[in-house]
Formats: sequence, C-alpha cells, structure tokens
Amino acid sequence: MASDGLKDMLGRVRLTPVKKAKSILLGALANISIQTERCSLPAALDRIVSSNLFSPEDLPAHPRSTMDGFAVRAADTFGASSSMPCYLEIDGEVAMGQMPEGEVRQGKCFHIATGGLLPAGSDAVMMFEHTIPVDGKMIEVVKSVGVGINLISRGEDIEKNSPVLSKGHLLRPQDLGLLAGLGIAEVEVYKRPKVGILSTGDEIVPWSQSPPPGKIRDINGITLAALCERLGAEVTDYGIVSDSEETFFATLKRATNENNVVLFSGGSSVGMRDLGERVIEKLGNPGILVHGVALKPGKPIIIGLSHETAIFGLPGHPVSAMVCFEFFVGPALRLLAGSQPDQLFTPSIRAIVARNINSAAGRLDLVRVQLQEQENNLPLAIPVLGKSGSISTLSRAHGYFLIDEPSQGLNKDTQVEVYLLL
Ligand code: AMP
Ligand code: MG
Repeated sequence: MASDGLKDMLGRVRLTPVKKAKSILLGALANISIQTERCSLPAALDRIVSSNLFSPEDLPAHPRSTMDGFAVRAADTFGASSSMPCYLEIDGEVAMGQMPEGEVRQGKCFHIATGGLLPAGSDAVMMFEHTIPVDGKMIEVVKSVGVGINLISRGEDIEKNSPVLSKGHLLRPQDLGLLAGLGIAEVEVYKRPKVGILSTGDEIVPWSQSPPPGKIRDINGITLAALCERLGAEVTDYGIVSDSEETFFATLKRATNENNVVLFSGGSSVGMRDLGERVIEKLGNPGILVHGVALKPGKPIIIGLSHETAIFGLPGHPVSAMVCFEFFVGPALRLLAGSQPDQLFTPSIRAIVARNINSAAGRLDLVRVQLQEQENNLPLAIPVLGKSGSISTLSRAHGYFLIDEPSQGLNKDTQVEVYLLL
C-alpha cells in the first residue's frame, strides 16, 4: 500500500481514529488460520481451547450426599418437627468410596457422610443436626426434608453430552478442575503465537549494561516481552538495531519470516531518522495498514502486515509503547492465540475522578490513574500525571480511563470506567 494515502497534502500523517485502526487491524487478521496441538491437562493452564468440548459422562456419575447425616425417604419425614418428631430405624451405613449395599426401606435410614453415594430407595439426606439418637438403632427426626435435599444428583454438575467449554475459552485453574472431574486428560488447544521483539535507536543499549553518556537503557524490550508472555506468546528477542535502514530492514525481515507478530519500538514517527515506515513498506505484502492514530499517548504507531505476520512499529517513549500494546498489540495477539473476537475486552471497574482533567478534542486521551478505596462509595481514580517518556507513571498506575475524541475534558466527581493494568 502506498503511504501517500496516509498523509495529508502537507505530508503530515493523517491520524486514524482508534476504533477504525483497531477494526482495520482485526479485520486483516480475521482470516489467518491458527494451528492447533494436543496438550496434556497439567500443561494446559492459560492455553486456549480450539474446539467445542462436550461431556463424555455425567458429573457426578452417581447421586452423592452433600451433608453428614442419614439417607432417608423424604416422604417418611413429612410433618416431622421437634414437637412431633418421627422415628427412623438405622438399617445400614454407606462406606466412603464404596457402592452402597442394600436399599433404604420405608421407615428406615442409612448413616451417610458428605460425598457418600446415595443408597437405593433413598431420595434425600437428613442432616445430623436435625436428628436425636434414641439408641444405636433408632433416631428421632425433628425436621422434615424434601426430595433431593442435601444431595447432588446424577449429572447435576454437568450432564453427559452437554457443552463443557467452547472454542476460544482460555483455560483457568477451575477449568482444568472441571476437565479432570470429567476424566478429560488431553485437550486440543491453539499453538502459542510466536512474537519477535526488537528495539531500535542508536542511543539504546541493553538494560544490563551501564549506558555511557548520551545512551539510555532499553526499557521497551523487556516490558513488551513480558506483556506478550502474559498473553501466552513465545517471545524471541532480536535485540537492539541501530538507526540504519540496512540493519533494521534485515533484522525486521528475518523476524517477520520467523514469527506471527513482530514488534519494534522507536523509529515509528515521521522524523528524519524514523525508518519504521520505510522498512515496513519495503517488506510489502501488503505493508502498512495504519500509520498514526488519534490517541494520546501513542499517536505515532505503525500497524502493518506482511503475508500473515502482523507488524507493529511502536513509539519509542515507553508509556506510548505500552499504551499502543494495550489498544492494538494485545487484542491482535489474543486473536492470533485463538480468542474469539467477542472475548477481547479488558477488565474494568467503575470509579470517581478525583480532579478536573483537560483533554484536546479530536483524539482519544488515556489518563493513567491510581485507585483508592473509599468508604461507602466507588473507589477514587487519582490521575497520575507525567510525560509519555516517564515509565514510573505507568508503574504507579493501577489502570486508566479514557476521554473520548469529541470531549474536551472531564470534571471532578464524574464516574468513569477504569481499565485495569494488572
Ligand atoms: P523514537 O520513537 O525513536 O523517536 O523515540 C522516542 C523516545 O523514546 C526517544 O527519547 C528514545 O530515546 C526513547 N526510546 C526509544 N526506544 C526506547 C527503548 N527501547 N527504551 C527506552 N526508551 C526508548
Ligand atoms: Mg529512535
């Protein structure tokens, strides 16, 4: 795609609204097919299920007691109260982990513990607390119990052949527990997306080194890698490349061939030394999709595609780079990891803005905030002010709220949705 269409008559970058940029991006990725693999249950945490799963059996397979007490026929207890108790004969005991022997007949009951299998003939469990032992053979029942009370019936948790998890579901600890309960030992999951990350700039040195005067440590490389790993990606570090078109292009090309997503930071605006646009254009197929969005911080992002690899040229300022990750890279990565388009939301809570905040009309403004609990009210969202080069502002922030494009600011005490930076 020629870059001319992305600039106005004065050669300035034409800013694309965030929503539009996101839909261009996700639209371009929608038809990329993702490979799957089989994964054993213990290794499946945080992986994404690639097909709809149905239960191979009833859970539980047999009705079980949820209380310590007596397995009874509910009808035998009807009308029982402390002033008019009924009497049941103890005719057996359910041993844990064993199929109960015999049957509970009219006027009789079996001892049962929590988790014990309900014996034939019984249809409810009477809690110990509502019985008084008469002798070793007889109990006095001081409360009635209805059919199905204090037990979990066969298939009540999940019925055989019913849906368990749907395609695109991210496996959390409780999901592994559910699959274990159903005896599903292996699941089909999407392969992890591969992400290549490089930092650009003659001034950048690895964070593990002491920068000589004029140089700075690489902050973006490790931040972006950690963000990708959180989303289940396999990250390859392509290091730092200088502001030379030749080296930048060669490294970007290699990374693009080897990954599903490539992120570089720095060199994404339109300055003399900003090569990002040129190298993505040179890769082509199709090349640049968006350059410049109406977002602050984060304006000079480049979104590109080369064959089936998504390429993101992120701004060098660390806050801008992470904000662009939040809006564009994260959703793209989650889609390429197998999430369904309707699952790409960010967790948020309602809060109250602690002070007036100005915003320029025409762009989406992101305000970093700290949250503070308040008694009898929603939490307070206290803006963390600072430049987009200041990584400590993000480190202090619990989340952010947005001031949409047409708005020129928000008043103190306005309710906002705070998206959490977890
Ligand atoms: P650029 O987008 O290349 O114009 O860079 C904008 C600012 O971000 C400059 O001050 C860069 O030195 C800084 N910067 C670029 N890359 C990084 C990085 N990986 N870590 C920390 N700061 C960076
Ligand atoms: Mg630079």
